[in-house]
Amino acid sequence: MTKAIQRSWFEQYMVPCFAPAPFIPVKAEGSRVWDQDGKEYVDFAGGIAVNALGHANKELKETLSTQMENLWHIGNGYTNEPVLKLAKDLVENTFSDKVFFCNSGAEANEAALKIARKYALDKYGSHKNEIISFENSFHGRTLFTVTVGGQPKYSQDFAPLPQEITHLPYNDIETIKARISEKTCAVIVEPIIGEGGVIPADPAFMKALRELCDQYQALLIFDEIQTGVGRTGYLYAYEETGVVPDILTTAKGLGGGFPIGAMLVKQHVAEVFQPGSHGTTFGGNPLAAAVAHKVLSIVNQKAFLAGVQERHHEFIRQMTALNQRYQVFSEIRGKGLLLGAELTEKYQGKAKTLSNIAAEEGLIALIAGPNVLRFAPALNIGQQEISDGFTRLENALKRFVQE
Ligand SMILES: *Cc1c(COP(=O)(O)O)cnc(C)c1O
Repeated sequence: MTKAIQRSWFEQYMVPCFAPAPFIPVKAEGSRVWDQDGKEYVDFAGGIAVNALGHANKELKETLSTQMENLWHIGNGYTNEPVLKLAKDLVENTFSDKVFFCNSGAEANEAALKIARKYALDKYGSHKNEIISFENSFHGRTLFTVTVGGQPKYSQDFAPLPQEITHLPYNDIETIKARISEKTCAVIVEPIIGEGGVIPADPAFMKALRELCDQYQALLIFDEIQTGVGRTGYLYAYEETGVVPDILTTAKGLGGGFPIGAMLVKQHVAEVFQPGSHGTTFGGNPLAAAVAHKVLSIVNQKAFLAGVQERHHEFIRQMTALNQRYQVFSEIRGKGLLLGAELTEKYQGKAKTLSNIAAEEGLIALIAGPNVLRFAPALNIGQQEISDGFTRLENALKRFVQE
């Protein structure tokens, strides 16, 4: 039977910078997804840590349709009620004093890196412009953020690249101690490296970054685009580290599937952006802000965040049990519902193969590099969905070890 809309149109009409799965999802609810053929999948990917409340969440649908009846877009020549409510909530529930809204993670980091450079320029002069980031980190796909990211394969083809960016090994206190200087204006770090392999930062490393940034008057930027909005069982992952950044970027889960990003900053940093310094057409639009405000109000509850921790233990228990039977993972790690399982020596480079087999078995999973299977499911994923997902993962592992 030929379908009205065909998967082959992707190759025919779209820029080939993605390699999407062979099936096309058409409908989803909670943590279940259906494709064009009516095949059902359990979703352990959550749209890459985006669908924090699952698909087609009732409260988000109601919030969006109410806002839709009133005001879609007005532009930043005016403010709007949803964006003011969202900004107030973010400030009152985090370290920050001020918020800038945009539409994606990369844009949030772009704003953070720009404000850090301007802050140093205004306060200390043009010599203070070096940005330190870490190997294997991921900060987005604009030219600035891709250059700051620690994966040269994503930036090298786009030279000339922005200058004065230094990449150092993650979790290595001695190296940054030796390299940071009066020239450094900012250090940007993921509290858990996400795309680069689900690698949590050592608490001592985070603490050292704060001390070094204070010593050299550099701003500390936490990229919480993947770790934020309840993902680790805290509203933001920095709360657990006890280390407070000067700037924090958030996106992905913030809109629960509606595009929105934000940069959270302390007052002294916010001040360097005046009218004209930076901007956006869509950032802070009422539809996105209304939905994000609802997401935040649901996620930022003690019981909800405790539920994320409970699910964490359930996922670890299930993955450990499966690994005892199939012995494919050398390490199972992560926090909350951002989890990575590193393949053993024998299966190096095979994470994509495993996730493809999982999809055939009815489980949507992610990878983080060639050797890590990654899960970032909805934070409210149900018990039945978890157990169905692991049954399907077991079916996939049976095939994986044979093939
Ligand atoms: C996804 C991600 C980004 C980029 O976000 P986009 O919305 O794709 O621009 C940046 N940093 C981290 C840590 C991410 O996980």
